[in-house]
Amino acid sequence: MTISINSPKSKEKIISQTKEDIDLLNERAWHLESIDPREGLTLSKEAHLLSTTGKFRLEPYQRGVADSLFNQSHFNLNRGDYYLALSQSLEALTIYNDQKNTERQSRTLCNMGAIYLAMNEYSKAMDTLLKGLTIARNLMNPIPMGEILLNIGIAYLFAGDLNQSLNEFKKSLQIFQSSDDLKMLAYAYCNLAAVYKLMGEDDIYRQYSERSLRFAEQIGSDYIKIDLLRQRGQYELNQGNINRALEHFEESLILSQKHGYQADQIAAAIWISEVDIQLGNTKEAADRLLEALGWARKYRYDEGCLRAYNKLSQIFANMEDYPQAYEHLKAFYELDQRIAKEKNELRFKTIETVYRTQAIQKEARIIQTKNEQLEKEIAERKWVEEALRQSEDKYRRLANLDALTSLNNRRFFYELAIIEMRRVRRYRHPMCIMMIDIDHFKKINDRLGHLAGDQVLTWVARCLEEFLREVDIIGRFGGEEFVVLLPETDEEQAKGVAQRLCRQFADADFEIRNEHIHITVSIGLSSFEPESTLDSLIDHADQAMYAAKQAGRNRAFVWKNLK
Ligand code: GH3
Ligand code: MG
Ligand code: MG
Repeated sequence: MTISINSPKSKEKIISQTKEDIDLLNERAWHLESIDPREGLTLSKEAHLLSTTGKFRLEPYQRGVADSLFNQSHFNLNRGDYYLALSQSLEALTIYNDQKNTERQSRTLCNMGAIYLAMNEYSKAMDTLLKGLTIARNLMNPIPMGEILLNIGIAYLFAGDLNQSLNEFKKSLQIFQSSDDLKMLAYAYCNLAAVYKLMGEDDIYRQYSERSLRFAEQIGSDYIKIDLLRQRGQYELNQGNINRALEHFEESLILSQKHGYQADQIAAAIWISEVDIQLGNTKEAADRLLEALGWARKYRYDEGCLRAYNKLSQIFANMEDYPQAYEHLKAFYELDQRIAKEKNELRFKTIETVYRTQAIQKEARIIQTKNEQLEKEIAERKWVEEALRQSEDKYRRLANLDALTSLNNRRFFYELAIIEMRRVRRYRHPMCIMMIDIDHFKKINDRLGHLAGDQVLTWVARCLEEFLREVDIIGRFGGEEFVVLLPETDEEQAKGVAQRLCRQFADADFEIRNEHIHITVSIGLSSFEPESTLDSLIDHADQAMYAAKQAGRNRAFVWKNLK
């Protein structure tokens, strides 16, 4: 794995501000995590700024914001600023949750676990890491799972359960080996070495420590090297190789100073003072510790202050400088109490932050569920409305149709006819009304029964629809009488239609129960005049129809020609 690092020296390069630029910047920053934390933190802050300014001012580039916070959190954890690191991780997590970015969720939870570990909040660390692990198990990328297992191992190590910690480290090592991630391999070997050192397995310790160092040097990571050097110093000190121990601690000190790993810097200085004590250089030890105390105060690294105060009071007591011993012991207790108090407040704040974050997430989930429900309801309502509309249409149509023949019923025929009359009156177009009555229908009923009579009526209805035009309005007037409105048709044309209808019915035959039924119709016609009403037109057509009956049936009469 080789990544070329081109950390931009001039800021103009990154001002172009596309999402891709910001992603790249965050990637570069992340790559510097264990190599150049100062530059990494600077780039992370830059990425954050770019994600929230310029064209992203009103609508921040959320992914860019979250990634930069995630990175910053990492750098601040390594620097020893745990509270800031935690709040940045929480903020990033909220965004990743929103974006359903499960890989980043698990990695952020992993980072938070590491922060809690550094804060000595073991149960919270475990909780967080296990949450992350659950998510990481379902990912395609195994690295986050390896990182989480590594941190779980560290938690066990802190808790003193060496076997369990060894287990977790081995699992994570396997993951990193199969994915060939040198940085993570270096971390895994470094932690394994620490366990084996504590177990007294010196050979394995040295082997793993060397492996880790090789990988760390390969990727140019001083961060891992600093840890390894401190381990090696402790090991040599235990072996009685004081000078070699000093070499390692001093190298560790120089490297942590160079990169600003404050906690490591102070730890190295305190270990050097330990070497001085063992060499009998009490004065040097005290000076070294006072220097470390100065840094610890400056960086507000309480853990370092505590250790320095504690050691200083011991040294001064040994030197029989009781006022100094007393001062440092007093400072130790006061700080210890302040830390305990602050820790409780911090715990409260943390819980509050977690609670707030969760409350926001919960609220977001509720809103989302509500929206989904609303959408569902709207869809359902639309469906119901559509069904209603359809059935309404159906009922309306049914209400307008004659139940037997499905022609317009008398009432609806009137409705349609009135609309047509209005149009005709306005535009002075021709129009005729035709009354059609089946001749001697009673005889059909009498001979074949009422049901057969119904079938004949239905058949006549279909014949009318077939013989007449689409635009003609056909209605069942009652019994065996039908009414037709012929738009755009003058009297002559209508007469032609009526005569043709008479012929068509006379020529048609209808088969029912093996009998061929022949019917004829009588038709009366009236045509629209300016003074006409619908009633008068129907009445006149009716009169003409009766006249046709009188004249012998199977014929069409025009009302105007009656007299
Ligand atoms: P005309 O040639 O003078 O019209 O003789 P007609 O027998 O057709 O006339 P009339 O008005 O005397 O009889 C109409 C018959 O139509 C009476 C009634 O029993 C029958 N009728 C009316 N409505 C229905 C119906 O819905 N179904 C059936 N099957 N018969 C009906
Ligand atoms: Mg009749
Ligand atoms: Mg009749």
